Amino acid sequence: MGSLPLFPVTVVGSLPRSKPMQDALRKRQSGRMTEAEFQAVADVAVRECLNMQIAAGVDIVSDGEQRRDNFYSFVAEKVEGVRLMSLADMLEYVEDKAAFERLLNALDVPAFAIKNPVVVGKLRRARPLALDDFRFLKNLTDRAIKVALPGPYLLTRSMWVKSLSADLYPTKEALGEDVTRILREELIALRDAGCDIVQFDEPVLTEVAFAGPHATHTFMCAALSEKSSPEAELSFAVDLLNRVVEGVEGVKTALHVCRGNWSRNESVLLQGAYDPLIPYFCRMKVRQFVLEYATERAGSVEALAALPEDREIGLGVCNPRTSEIETAEFIAAKARSLLKFRPAETLYLNPDCGFGTFADRPVNTLETAAMKLRALHDAAQVLRAEHGRGA
Ligand SMILES: [Zn+2]
Repeated sequence: MGSLPLFPVTVVGSLPRSKPMQDALRKRQSGRMTEAEFQAVADVAVRECLNMQIAAGVDIVSDGEQRRDNFYSFVAEKVEGVRLMSLADMLEYVEDKAAFERLLNALDVPAFAIKNPVVVGKLRRARPLALDDFRFLKNLTDRAIKVALPGPYLLTRSMWVKSLSADLYPTKEALGEDVTRILREELIALRDAGCDIVQFDEPVLTEVAFAGPHATHTFMCAALSEKSSPEAELSFAVDLLNRVVEGVEGVKTALHVCRGNWSRNESVLLQGAYDPLIPYFCRMKVRQFVLEYATERAGSVEALAALPEDREIGLGVCNPRTSEIETAEFIAAKARSLLKFRPAETLYLNPDCGFGTFADRPVNTLETAAMKLRALHDAAQVLRAEHGRGA
């Protein structure tokens, strides 16, 4: 990675898709648009996202995940043996249909709009997951680049639907073998192509940590009936992630954990501090933890004091789901509360999550996202001045 200023500003991943981009995603999925036509629309959208980030003063940019349907479902287009299904389609196959339906209603989830990847065959990485998208962005900019990939636990949990997957993968451990192999291949390919940060998204770890063995609080884990104790599940998640990243040098690895980002109605999203996850984070061989702290839901940053000194924090300091723009002072104050016990060199500033997690359901507009990112940049400038290093 080139020289970054102190308190680098970055994004978590997605940015809102424009109307033409949303149309193109829909048309391609239903076979009404050729691949070349789709890529042409996406190329324009990625350039817009990049220009917005540069104008806002983002130090580590992403392509806004413009080509993805959502942050994990897109693997269906890249990996053989995976079928993209809407949550409505999945109703037919899940074991407890009534519970699944109740959950979708309670969580304010549009069952037809949100799609989930499901294992229906033996997995094979037919195409790179993100390498082509990374190369396109790399050709457009000298800025450092972050690529987000779905975490191995999320994929293993969300893709396994018993009646469709069990013949090929009788256990989650068996599926985890192939998932980790595919993600490790992708990580190494991105490293070799010059990617600066690869972030693995594991939003369901909070659900696992906060819920009992039989409770389900997000739709991403809803299909899987077998679930062990939270401790066993979290240890499994640690093991899967370490199998992906361990020993891969020359690229920064990160883990993003949040509490859901599909609705602006905060009351349907999970609540709870990171405390129960910290012992598991300590065992994970990633360099950076990208965590949400802009809302009261996340608890105190004091919990992060227990993380090893060499780990970095991507501190979530603005809420991607609101229209109000956080002030630079609010953001700087959040950062200062962490700087009491973590070195300045290990602190990055980012929003709590993406701005357009699900293509059909962006949680904000591109204009608001730009203003929030600008506020992050302004706060970084304040902090840099305080630490004697302007940029
Ligand atoms: Zn998130």
